[in-house]
Amino acid sequence: MIGFGFDVHRLAEGQSLVLAGVDIPSPVGTVAHSDGDVVLHALVDALLGAVAMGDIGEHFPDTDPQWKGAASSHFVEHTVGLLDSNGYRIINVDCTLVLESPKILPYRNQMRENIAQLCGLPVERVAVKATTSERLGYVGRKEGVHAFVACEVQLK
Ligand code: MG
Repeated sequence: MIGFGFDVHRLAEGQSLVLAGVDIPSPVGTVAHSDGDVVLHALVDALLGAVAMGDIGEHFPDTDPQWKGAASSHFVEHTVGLLDSNGYRIINVDCTLVLESPKILPYRNQMRENIAQLCGLPVERVAVKATTSERLGYVGRKEGVHAFVACEVQLK
């Protein structure tokens, strides 16, 4: 089964920018209830989408103090465990980030390794790509960041 997830977060000064578990030096970071990791949030929705088991807002409501300030890796770990206990395994993960800056290339392999570890995959099954928005729209004005994630999941 194919899963697809999307997330967006607002960017503001004085916030940390954590993408796929990598804390990236940046004058702006994501504004969020959790750590604002758009890649891992989109990954959770892609995994849940593949097996039609709801969405991130349902499993990790931002009204629940349990998840306040939580590292998004916990959301992924919980979701991967949910799939595993329902008889599914993850085949591959493909991520696309859209942001104006900073450049993602220096951090890409660490992002891939983080996702691979969380999903129990070899790093060769995890892709992370990045592009800008050609300075168009709110992403182009550095007011936000997008992440898109696709994945394949199979019954074990
Ligand atoms: Mg989010």
